[in-house]
Amino acid sequence: MRWENLTSDSEHSRADAALFGADAVTTRTFDTPEFRGITFHEIRARSIINRVPAVSRMSFQWTVNPYRGCSHACVYCFARKTHSYLDLDTGLGFDSQIVVKINAPELLRRQLGSRRWQGEHIAMGTNVDCYQRAEGRYRLMPGIIAALRDHANPFSILTKGTLILRDLELIKQAARVTDVGISVSVGFTEQELWRTVEPGTPAPERRLEVVRTFGDHGIGCGVLMAPVIPFLSDSPAQLRATVRAIAASGATSVTPLVLHLRPGAREWFMAWLGQHHPHLVARYERLYAAGSYAPKWYQRRITRQVHELAEEYGIGPTRAGTSRRISPPEPAPEPPVAGPTQLSLL
Ligand code: SF4
Repeated sequence: MRWENLTSDSEHSRADAALFGADAVTTRTFDTPEFRGITFHEIRARSIINRVPAVSRMSFQWTVNPYRGCSHACVYCFARKTHSYLDLDTGLGFDSQIVVKINAPELLRRQLGSRRWQGEHIAMGTNVDCYQRAEGRYRLMPGIIAALRDHANPFSILTKGTLILRDLELIKQAARVTDVGISVSVGFTEQELWRTVEPGTPAPERRLEVVRTFGDHGIGCGVLMAPVIPFLSDSPAQLRATVRAIAASGATSVTPLVLHLRPGAREWFMAWLGQHHPHLVARYERLYAAGSYAPKWYQRRITRQVHELAEEYGIGPTRAGTSRRISPPEPAPEPPVAGPTQLSLL
């Protein structure tokens, strides 16, 4: 889940410089079990609709990200790198220092009403998860979705957060007036792997309940099967178990994506690997020797296996839904991306 725009109009090129200025930030902690150890930096953003850099290979041009940092704490998360732009730690700091753009709903409503805005599709959850735990307290998404609904502006949401079900009625209202796409990220169903590599997220089966619930309400929901983690979730039996569970949830599509290890995520992931699976470190160093991506032959093999399984289990396009998938980038060697412009593997 992660997109940040570093162009001259970006909220980040100028506003980030002032992000931690004394007037711009209120820092809060909450002494509840849910938020213990987490610091929230509340800011008033200057802009909320971000343009995706032209060099990006993503399938959408505009994003809205009400948060930075993510308490879902996935070890492999690409967005870790973006915390370094704020002089924050990309490891534990990314998991526990959360920037909250508290004026996101009102700002979005204003920007959607601008004569310069052309009503293009807006993707959310592409940088960090907009339904991470902080959203339970700050409740920014209802105002954001209401603004998009009132402007009949098409949008999509990618999430690992079951909290999205809180906003189901609003999303249904929006889907009556515009194109709405909901995608949930479930890379695998292994319990032990989930607990260690995605420690702050709802369990995979709970995420698949989200898929099922949206389907029951007439909103087709796709699954981004990401990441497929080499040697840990990629055996034929594991792929089959995951695709079978996705099919059983009624998902309208499944899109596999093999683990990327870009700088920022790579160091954190490899440290985790050394701690939990030390025997795999050398294999990873060989598999990712050429850069951030696994070799194409490996990616193609996974894609083919998942597509074959999807066909076997009957996962296909929705008949009546309004789902629009967020397509991940095509596998490639190091892309010429000048900023944090990759899906965070939500
Ligand atoms: S991968 Fe997504 S859910 Fe996980 S920490 Fe990153 S932004 Fe959050």
